[in-house]
Amino acid sequence: MLHPIDSSSPRSVVEDNPWHTGAACRSDEAGLFFAPSKEPTAARLAREEQAKRVCARCPVLLECREHALAQPEPYGVWGGLTAAERRVVLARRRRRDVELREARRVGVQQPRRIAG
Ligand code: SF4
Repeated sequence: MLHPIDSSSPRSVVEDNPWHTGAACRSDEAGLFFAPSKEPTAARLAREEQAKRVCARCPVLLECREHALAQPEPYGVWGGLTAAERRVVLARRRRRDVELREARRVGVQQPRRIAG
């Protein structure tokens, strides 16, 4: 999958993923979202923060983030998260799913919401 910033994305990619058309990064510098080879750590952190600032004003942040988690996309900043941050989110979701399955297996009721 191409990053939304990649203006060379085939038209079919955009048509299949209509959220791409609203991506704030389509008008930003391509180098912001992916690491060049042998990028020093301080430069990477600064670049990722810049990319996250673009994501923070993006109207399709949630769609982009869920796409990157579902693929999963192994590189770059997507939906305001770095690849390492996405790995943490995925690990938490897997752990939660395991806990929910186990709770269902042993018949533990989910706490009811109290109205009002
Ligand atoms: S959330 Fe960030 S990476 Fe995703 S489309 Fe928007 S600006 Fe691009």
